[in-house]
Amino acid sequence: MTTRKSIALAAILGLVALLLGAFLLLSGRKDDEIPGVTYKPAFVDASAMLHLVDVLASDALEGRASGTPGSEAARGFIRKRFEEIGLQPWLKTGWEQPVTILPRPELPEPGPGANLIGWVPGKTPGAGPVIVVTAHYDHLGIRDGEIYNGADDNASGCGALVALAAHFIGHPPQHDLLFVALDGEEVGFLGARALMRDAAIPLGRVALNINLDMVSRSDAGELYAAGAFHTPELAALISEIAATAPVTLLMGHDRPEDGPNDWTLQSDHAVFQQAGIPFLYFGVEDHPGYHNPGDDFSAITPDFYVRAADTLVMVTRAADTILPEIFALRRAPAEPVQPEGKPE
Ligand SMILES: [Zn+2]
Repeated sequence: MTTRKSIALAAILGLVALLLGAFLLLSGRKDDEIPGVTYKPAFVDASAMLHLVDVLASDALEGRASGTPGSEAARGFIRKRFEEIGLQPWLKTGWEQPVTILPRPELPEPGPGANLIGWVPGKTPGAGPVIVVTAHYDHLGIRDGEIYNGADDNASGCGALVALAAHFIGHPPQHDLLFVALDGEEVGFLGARALMRDAAIPLGRVALNINLDMVSRSDAGELYAAGAFHTPELAALISEIAATAPVTLLMGHDRPEDGPNDWTLQSDHAVFQQAGIPFLYFGVEDHPGYHNPGDDFSAITPDFYVRAADTLVMVTRAADTILPEIFALRRAPAEPVQPEGKPE
């Protein structure tokens, strides 16, 4: 008996030691111990952000093509993060705005699609100008037997979107901020079009779209802000942030003379631009992984990515500060303006 008791006690003590060790190991893990990251972020949770990118860009999600189970799984992981950070669903019906995914040759019977819409209330919730931060979570799926994981395009934008939302939940903005994970970018901006068309967001209140698409991979440490050509007044804001940003923040890629390097119509912000709403698109120069099976988590530049995310917080904060002025820069909308306020 005694021996058995001793063994039992020893086993319990061993278990306690094991749990304590695990606890210390986990609690001792800090941002400064993330492989490849030496920069100390001022605003974002780098570890959580990188983990989400790793998950979204894993082979298990099979490239997140819209209308596939991998895309649905990606949506589930992002929704879980929205809930964990304490973001609020914008729609009365919950997080998801349905998006119809059109059949395509490689997927004749697509499953349902959806945007995820959350928001952080400002000082006058439900009134005044808003910023809509967007990032698409879909990618190219499997082609010729190869998985296109889309780590930079655009698991990185989704990670940054959640990191921004988490920051502003802890540091409330002046104006309402909407955070939208968009479906269907790679198949014709379907999510962004649905967002605008279905009045899922209060279009009449949208002052600015901040679109994040490919923000994690730059050996040169360069992040581009496109959009100031179309709304020249935004150049001052970008210049001001560039002066102290932890990345090299450049303007460009938004002029007709840039030809194929004019990114104005190349991601979801195009839909806002066409509706007369000022946009700022953030992304990196095309790299060898662009729309290539090599766009893997192992190929992103984590230190740059964390710096970029901090920079995006700085830009969003600065825009929030002068949002009524930015709202005044809207051009005549190409589509009817929607009613004010939160949808009932
Ligand atoms: Zn993209």
